[in-house]
Amino acid sequence: MRGKLVAGNWKMHGSDAENRRLLEAVLSAAESWGDVECAVCVPFPYLVQACGMLRGTSIAWGAQTVSEHAKGAYTGEVSAAMLKEFDCRYVIVGHSERRALFGERSDVVAQKFVAAQASGLTPILCIGETLAERDAARTEAVVSEQLDAVIERAGAASFSAAVVAYEPVWAIGTGKTATPQQAQEVHAHIRARIEARAAAVGRELRILYGGSVKAANAAELFAMPDIDGGLIGGASLVADDFVAICRAARG
Ligand code: PEP
Repeated sequence: MRGKLVAGNWKMHGSDAENRRLLEAVLSAAESWGDVECAVCVPFPYLVQACGMLRGTSIAWGAQTVSEHAKGAYTGEVSAAMLKEFDCRYVIVGHSERRALFGERSDVVAQKFVAAQASGLTPILCIGETLAERDAARTEAVVSEQLDAVIERAGAASFSAAVVAYEPVWAIGTGKTATPQQAQEVHAHIRARIEARAAAVGRELRILYGGSVKAANAAELFAMPDIDGGLIGGASLVADDFVAICRAARG
């Protein structure tokens, strides 16, 4: 049975003091969302703080990207083994901002996915179409291509230790949210694509929706049969909003 997961993506936000206030507020409410899993993906420098504040609690933590390389002369990069030393459970790979702003192609994203799993991290693989691609009726083709790059490199069975986040690019940070029906259609397509290659893996795969999820729209998104929680950007920085979204996942 797939459990719900709500993961915050802090992006490049936060400070020692702000994080402390946010995490304290989230921690103090954690009992109110029952067995919904909650995680925060923080900037690298704050992993120490996340470890210190969250170890032994029900809230998991992770990073927002990882190198595809194990070690070597890659100035500025951080390896999966390093993230594991800070007890990360999750790492986001293939976020659309990384694809668009840092030129990460699907084959590199697939390598990052493999590197994460090799170190025992659970990748949260982000896939999604731009507005132009949706308008051209290419949504399924685009998410299929992004998914297939990982399937070809890692195999469909590898999704038993991964999470997928469907994040339409046009909905990220824009205030525009996919309707529950629009999101459900794409989630069902993603699940079917994995199920066709590995039936049980596809059935159990957690597929999160991301893109301007707020307290006001979370419950109806999470009520859809193939939406297993959310990847939350802006609203994960506001304690009351993030807490309300985690509660909405409880159903
Ligand atoms: C994200 O960046 O993963 C995201 C979903 O952002 P937002 O919730 O702000 O749209």
